[in-house]
Amino acid sequence: MKNISVIGAGQMGNGIAHVFAQSGYSVTLIDIAQERLDKAVATIGKNLDRQVAKGSLTEDQKKTALANIATATDMAAGVKAADLVVEAATENVDLKLKIFKDIDANAPAGCILATNTSSISITRIAAVTGRPAQVIGMHFMNPVPVMKLVEVIRGYNTTDVVTKTIMDLSTAIGKVPVEVNDYSGFVANRILMPMINEAIETLFQGVGGVAEIDTVMKLGMAHPMGPLQLADFIGLDTCLAIMRVLHEGFGNPKYAPCPLLVQMVTAGKLGVKSGEGFYQYTAGSKDLVVAAAFAK
Ligand code: NAD
Repeated sequence: MKNISVIGAGQMGNGIAHVFAQSGYSVTLIDIAQERLDKAVATIGKNLDRQVAKGSLTEDQKKTALANIATATDMAAGVKAADLVVEAATENVDLKLKIFKDIDANAPAGCILATNTSSISITRIAAVTGRPAQVIGMHFMNPVPVMKLVEVIRGYNTTDVVTKTIMDLSTAIGKVPVEVNDYSGFVANRILMPMINEAIETLFQGVGGVAEIDTVMKLGMAHPMGPLQLADFIGLDTCLAIMRVLHEGFGNPKYAPCPLLVQMVTAGKLGVKSGEGFYQYTAGSKDLVVAAAFAK
């Protein structure tokens, strides 16, 4: 495996491109607009600089990693030489089904098609391709260069050989792969997202404020970050999309998204990426400030 195409250059896509490029793979990063690609490459550069400053990477290794990344806005051209495609576009089922049809039509026959989806059925995505045995979930955690876990999700038709290839590749790039089966939310978000949704429900019912809820979970459960801050970090739109997949997938009302989460996404309050969620984010400031809507 040499050539890896990554579709979607958002917070996950740029991290996935970063780790593959740093491990010596030729990466083609694909998005719909050149400015998003330029922003992603600038972010990768900054994150590599941080590794150099910490002493975990040399300046030459950083340069080599950046030189391993090409960008493309034309998906057909961007996947035509790929041995593996990792899709990390927006968490929207119709979008992903369309992207997988397009990749399948343009990638070489032997190419493995992986998705970084947080919750959408791998089997459903695989079914729109002519190669369901070669479709698999490769679920990285955020921030990708830092987090060790890769949840590897077998679809109904995914072969042992393809699963082993992706498990081995994950190990080769310094991650720890864990193999799981294909039910809505898999393992990570089946457990994490209802907890985040319940934290939002707790806020919505006035049981506690933003800072109080996050402090209880941080100090009481030894979580490195409270669930509301984590929701901001993941993106409230992504959290809502995952809750909807769980709700639809299991038909169980316990997965209904909290009305406050729905309202905030409708209002464009998406967390860190939009500048406001449960907290307010100001460029250049590391202070954690509760958003005006939730300030006491
Ligand atoms: P994001 O909003 O930061 O980025 C999504 C990117 O996809 C954007 O740059 C957008 O322009 C691009 N895109 C949209 N349509 C496209 C198309 N047709 N072709 C190419 N690019 C397209 O989102 P994200 O947080 O990076 O999430 C991406 C995926 O990773 C989702 O499936 C999400 O569920 C999953 N994921 C997210 C997290 C997290 O913490 N945010 C963690 C694990 C997995």
